[in-house]
Amino acid sequence: MKIHGWGNYSAINAQVLKPKKINDVQSLITNNDKIIARGLGRSYGDSANNSIVIDTTNLNKIIKFDKVKGLITCESGVSINEINKIIIPNGWFMPVTPGSSYITIGGAVASDVHGKNHHLEGTFSNHILFVDLMLSDGEIITISSTLNSELFQATCGGMGLTGIIISVTFRLKSINSNMIKQTTIKTNSLEELFQKYEENTLSPYSVAWIDLKKRKTINSLLFLGEHVQEGKLFSSNKKQKYIPTKFFSMFLNKYFINLFNNIYYSKNFKKKDIKNIILEDYFYPLDSLVNWNFLYGKKGFIQYQFVIPKLNGVKIINKILDIVNEYNQIPFLAVLKILGPENKNYLSFPMEGYTLALDFKVSKNLLKLISILDNVIISNGGRIYLTKDTIMNKEIFRQCYPQWEKFEVIRDRYKAIGKFSSQQSVRLGLK
Ligand SMILES: Cc1cc2nc3c(=O)[nH]c(=O)nc-3n(C[C@H](O)[C@H](O)[C@H](O)COP(=O)(O)OP(=O)(O)OC[C@H]3O[C@@H](n4cnc5c(N)ncnc54)[C@H](O)[C@@H]3O)c2cc1C
Repeated sequence: MKIHGWGNYSAINAQVLKPKKINDVQSLITNNDKIIARGLGRSYGDSANNSIVIDTTNLNKIIKFDKVKGLITCESGVSINEINKIIIPNGWFMPVTPGSSYITIGGAVASDVHGKNHHLEGTFSNHILFVDLMLSDGEIITISSTLNSELFQATCGGMGLTGIIISVTFRLKSINSNMIKQTTIKTNSLEELFQKYEENTLSPYSVAWIDLKKRKTINSLLFLGEHVQEGKLFSSNKKQKYIPTKFFSMFLNKYFINLFNNIYYSKNFKKKDIKNIILEDYFYPLDSLVNWNFLYGKKGFIQYQFVIPKLNGVKIINKILDIVNEYNQIPFLAVLKILGPENKNYLSFPMEGYTLALDFKVSKNLLKLISILDNVIISNGGRIYLTKDTIMNKEIFRQCYPQWEKFEVIRDRYKAIGKFSSQQSVRLGLK
């Protein structure tokens, strides 16, 4: 069948093997070479693409949930959405969660995902006690920050290239209500937005939506969040809706986006607005639409996410936006977050600074634009996120992730080379 990442770009014909139990994974690994694990396919590019993929979504058992201590062990194919349904009513929440709940725990480990609280809580791997990983010979080995720690550092953020993650035990965060107190701050320039971020670094969660339609006045909405301390505990269980993407994709052009941004921005008309909203609406605003990723039409879209150091942050982002403007490519969505210090994992993305994610519809000029942006980001000490990447080359990868050689040494030691491989890893020159 044809498979692709969330951006619907670089599709590939693949044999999709869907084991029902862990023993089946063992025989699939030993009988096939050059395979890669695949969760819910929410990585935007080709990291979960290969001619043979192991779809883990049937490995979806919650093995143990300690409601008193807030510890959970689950198989790797369980989604955050399923976990939330069980833990929220019991007063617990994910310690770190990305902007979609439709991702698997295996995917969360392999991308070492970050959320709106990275500046205070780090990545998902910070909260992991143990991972059970299946190696190339089918043996299952337990890894953690203290047990087989180098393999742990290679696996968290390692994009599935060290083995198949079988199960994960991690710590949850205690909550007293399923509501988030959201403070929205409206800003009219990048300088003002960065200043507001710096004034609010103690806010437990933060994320900013930026309207890039006008190069001169950059309007933004900074959404700060904190858990409400008292209230009801239930998972909202909202039904997802389909949108007629063929119809809407015809109108997805810069005029439509201008109009949408104008309406959205003026809807949040106060300079500062505080209200309580359902937790899922704060963390997963796009989850209510099942197929929004098809809005960009047949050619798909690329989400380009990078991080740059705080020093000269505004200047670098301005430079990037000037180049984007020169190429007449208006990002349809632009999201800025603040990140805290980096961890020890060899290929984890976050490092101290600001991260910007830009969604571009695929077009003739886009690939050229991205290769220019890559160089600006590298020369300013930044990094590009692998789970969003579709086109990075080997040279840029090596500069973004200087520990790549150590990563390869660990893969070699555990005989992962030649066994675990993806369209992305081949492009990045990993063995
Ligand atoms: C709307 C949206 C918002 C997002 N927001 C964020 C965000 O805020 N922060 C962030 O960090 N990310 C974010 N992401 C990206 C997403 O969290 C990651 O791409 C995540 O890895 C997707 O999980 P998945 O189950 O879909 O994995 P897939 O896309 O199927 O796979 C991703 C990678 O994980 C590997 N993998 C999957 N399962 C296993 C396993 N069992 N064993 C070994 N390797 C495995 C694959 O080989 C591949 O390399 C977002 C994505 C979307 C669509």
